[in-house]
Amino acid sequence: MTVVQPPNRREEHPLRALYKPSAAPGLELIECPEPVAGPGEVKIRVERTGICGTDLHIESWDAWAASAVNAPLIIGHEFSGRIVELGEGVTSLEVGALVSGEGHVICGTCRNCRAGRRHMCKNTSSVGVNRNGAFADYVVIPASNVWVHSDAVDAELGAIFDPFGNAVHTALQFPLAGEDVLITGAGPIGLMAAKVARHVGARYVVISDINETRLALARRMGVDVAVNPVTSSIAEVQRQLGMKEGFDVAFEMSGAPTALPDILDNLAHGGRIAVLGLPSKEISINWAKLVTHMITIKGIYGREMYETWYAMNALIQTGLDIRDVITDRFPATDWQSAFAAARSSNAGKVVMDWS
Ligand SMILES: [Zn+2]
Ligand SMILES: [Zn+2]
Repeated sequence: MTVVQPPNRREEHPLRALYKPSAAPGLELIECPEPVAGPGEVKIRVERTGICGTDLHIESWDAWAASAVNAPLIIGHEFSGRIVELGEGVTSLEVGALVSGEGHVICGTCRNCRAGRRHMCKNTSSVGVNRNGAFADYVVIPASNVWVHSDAVDAELGAIFDPFGNAVHTALQFPLAGEDVLITGAGPIGLMAAKVARHVGARYVVISDINETRLALARRMGVDVAVNPVTSSIAEVQRQLGMKEGFDVAFEMSGAPTALPDILDNLAHGGRIAVLGLPSKEISINWAKLVTHMITIKGIYGREMYETWYAMNALIQTGLDIRDVITDRFPATDWQSAFAAARSSNAGKVVMDWS
């Protein structure tokens, strides 16, 4: 094992981790021992982390969390940090590099893994959900899950590469140049997807949400129209923009039961829908319309390993600026305020500082 001590190696405080002690609501900021990088693994000193909806589910311990999370564990999967230790056999990475991690640890042996479709692994284990996560001073992940950032990315931007990846993976499912794009849900991922759509050449980018704060953020981030479907309609937006045949592509980012039916009512014949939003129960849609309008629906989960990561870096390097999606920053010790801000739904992305 290679252990290198960078100059700032000595911590000024006991090692911290945000911990789910048992299968019940709540989290605790605990003191914890320093983890060790095993063979093929890398230890990372965490600098910044992003709070995801997943983390809120785990904190409140809802039905999804109870079914999916292996407590006790350290939570968190959106992070950036610097490599401090390489486990045995790791030769492709360097101590000191600013990195993020792909949070899906795959089995490597199922049919999809062996075919190179690693994001479709049926035995995926998730950082901060099924194994210890990144809301801590240190996180250990397999070397193959490490993404080394280019000079275009700093620690704060790196902390949101995981959800940025969800946005990029969704937005790049279908060609967007010259197309009209409808996005339902102006949470952080919807907002970033809107920016990606514009960057790669969409004509109109329209976003819908029932939260006025998020709609205002969307307008500041440059969408053509941000619409509240409670007070206006997407059909009205089409008239306003002079659109005649419907949207070409839609991203469903909300999980709201009205979103997919709304999309179907506003899509052109042959339209395409990428669905990332997770509904909490079954949704009824007009399947006859789906057939006669020749609509394609594709479910999206995670990021493509690792094509999405290359695409993310390329988008940033060609001038895509997603930083305005970060609205709140807290020191890790003030994690309760950070979680409250993330839960308020008036925030964009909330970042915690572990440095
Ligand atoms: Zn996430
Ligand atoms: Zn697999």
